Amino acid sequence: MKYPFLDLRAVQRPILEELQTAAVEVIASGRYLHGSNVSSLERELADRAGLAHGYGVACSNGLDALRLIFRGYMEMGRLAPGDKVMVAANAYIACVLPITEFGLQPVLIEPDTRTFNLDWKAADAAWIPDVKAVLAVHLYGTPCWDGDVARRLADKGVLIIEDNAQAIGARAQAGSALNTENTQAATGGLAHVAAYSFYPTKNIGAMGDAGAVVTPDAELAAVIRALANYGADKRYHNIYCGWNCRMDELQAALLRVKLRHLDAINMVREMRAKIYDKGICNQHIIKPEILPDMKQTWHQYVVQVDDRTRFTEYLTANGVGYDIHYAVPPHCQPCYAGKLAHDSLPVTERLAGRVVSLPIAHHKADATAEIAEIVNAYAP
Ligand SMILES: *Cc1c(COP(=O)(O)O)cnc(C)c1O
Repeated sequence: MKYPFLDLRAVQRPILEELQTAAVEVIASGRYLHGSNVSSLERELADRAGLAHGYGVACSNGLDALRLIFRGYMEMGRLAPGDKVMVAANAYIACVLPITEFGLQPVLIEPDTRTFNLDWKAADAAWIPDVKAVLAVHLYGTPCWDGDVARRLADKGVLIIEDNAQAIGARAQAGSALNTENTQAATGGLAHVAAYSFYPTKNIGAMGDAGAVVTPDAELAAVIRALANYGADKRYHNIYCGWNCRMDELQAALLRVKLRHLDAINMVREMRAKIYDKGICNQHIIKPEILPDMKQTWHQYVVQVDDRTRFTEYLTANGVGYDIHYAVPPHCQPCYAGKLAHDSLPVTERLAGRVVSLPIAHHKADATAEIAEIVNAYAP
């Protein structure tokens, strides 16, 4: 494959020495859990989210971050089984699993085809009783945010939860973000709480699994911190039947290195997205939009095509790797067969059959332009 979809060795290469130094320091320190790298990373994540007075809780992965958030709100009495949670129907399976796990009911909303995200105004218009939370997933790195609607819902007592797994470093037109008066504000710090994932393929990836919760809410942070550590609020004192969802020092040290390079990492992705945007011109291919008034992180560059099988065979024949995010929406997964109440979701199902992610993570500018040329030469 001349243009692999993703080569994680190439992703680490520019900062390999810094990563190695950090790893060696942890090994030599003799401290592998509950150390200063974890606590520093937690502080740095909250700061990057614009929450100087907020809290970070490092954890085991992105799914656990979401599980900790929903369970945390249940322990606080803010959510109860049967409550409904709005989420975009085209989001990742990990966005729906932590809702159903606790007996909450997902309300699957069709995405806005321009942003691939939950349309806040449509969600507001389709409001139904018992919706107690909205999970705003910043899919593909495009902020999912409407400050006016979010503020109105929050004022009604609705919990606004961000899934920032794909969007660390993004900025939304905040307007009336819940936590800031700034015109633009970092995703992951817009709402009541946010989940992060550092799965290796994310813009900032660990060398294994890792995740985090970031929130301005001191009480929620304390509950989540306890839940992630056997339910203990202090040593050998368990106030919840908790879990072990800790992040280790090694991952935290590596992630701190990457966090220092976050803006550069995202800038290179943005540069590639711009090369695709300028270079791809094919009536059979719909490009994602570079949206004004916000900063996207381009976790994925997702095009749409009518005959996906033909297009992906063409890409493969021409040495271009690709991936599909996601071919099967959560409500069509076998684990939910006959178990998930939802309206018909034609937009979501149509998208699932048409989306193709092009390489964006590690190519040089000239390779990106070459891929654009290959895409331009596609004819169905
Ligand atoms: C990756 C991802 C998750 C899950 O994160 P893991 O670390 O793989 O558990 C959740 N939500 C979104 C939007 C993701 O992209």
